[in-house]
Amino acid sequence: MKKHNFSAGPCILPKEVFLKASEAVMDLDNSGLSILEISHRSPAFVDIMNEARDLAIELLGLKGQGYQALFLQGGASLQFIMSAYNLLENKAAYLDTGSWSTKAIKEARKLAEVDVVASSSDKNFNYIPKDYNIPKDIDYFHCTSNNTIFGTQIKEFPDTDAPVVCDMSSDIFSRQIDFSYFDVIYAGAQKNMGPAGTTLVVVKEEVLGKVSRDIPSMLDYKIHIGKDSMFNTPPVFAVYTSLLNLRWLKEKGGIEAIQKENENKAKLIYSEIDINPLFKGFANKPDRSTMNATFYLVDDSLKERFDKMCKEAGINGVNGHRSVGGYRASMYNALPKESVGTLVEVMDELERKA
Ligand SMILES: *Cc1c(COP(=O)(O)O)cnc(C)c1O
Repeated sequence: MKKHNFSAGPCILPKEVFLKASEAVMDLDNSGLSILEISHRSPAFVDIMNEARDLAIELLGLKGQGYQALFLQGGASLQFIMSAYNLLENKAAYLDTGSWSTKAIKEARKLAEVDVVASSSDKNFNYIPKDYNIPKDIDYFHCTSNNTIFGTQIKEFPDTDAPVVCDMSSDIFSRQIDFSYFDVIYAGAQKNMGPAGTTLVVVKEEVLGKVSRDIPSMLDYKIHIGKDSMFNTPPVFAVYTSLLNLRWLKEKGGIEAIQKENENKAKLIYSEIDINPLFKGFANKPDRSTMNATFYLVDDSLKERFDKMCKEAGINGVNGHRSVGGYRASMYNALPKESVGTLVEVMDELERKA
């Protein structure tokens, strides 16, 4: 039986996507060849790559605005240093909202000065800092739109004239924002776009070419753009499966349609967390993520019982990250509302029986 998969990543994908991807492993579109054995230079794969790149730009509403989409490797973690390599000359401003942004800061510091404009480390990152100043003399401002581990999400992005770089790994394609506000967006596929193995990078071309350093080829956005995201062998299966998922999203009505579903799922879990006296939310209410809901049991002695009930209900992947503890329900695009309903029922049942 299919489990209710709340895993923080790699994530649940739609059943149709799993089916079509598995068919393509045996035979890609009746070609007599597997997606895993065709040349990445073959017309069939070139089409797949081009469609995936175009569809990413289209779904983000960035068509005709000077952006390029790349499907790279090395995860979002490589983008911490790669984005800095391409954009950081003297100084950059970073917002520190938890583990992933802390790591991004550490990497950028290897190249130049980093000004941490605000941090929520004083409260174990349970909120998004607001009312901070972004200096003018910077190469770019970097932020993390959704903090997967802590369950916080930036709802309003700050005003700045500087280019903006954003790690959107865990909420890309989940909500409608003005994506043209950003100059570089990066996202490891395995949170909300596809399987592990590829990273989507969306770059506004005009911000490139301004640093004086000699960038290693594999880290140079311009080189990847010049080769249509095929400078070296791309992760063909991860790109193909991501494409299937982007097609699924488009068919559903795009980001606008999925945002409504995501908001409904989030409402369902958060109202249970707030109404059920046995549970307490971790994140500051106005900053709560629609993707990752973090919460804990007020009375830890109920843990064993609750865990057992979850298991019996087929609920998978709700353990919190070790730096927060408690529970985390990740509700990415493909997670059905019924799964959230099942979790809420179990929380309810615990209250009735406790
Ligand atoms: C998971 C995650 C990362 C790291 O992604 P990798 O692809 O494993 O390198 C970075 N940022 C955020 C926000 C994440 O959720």
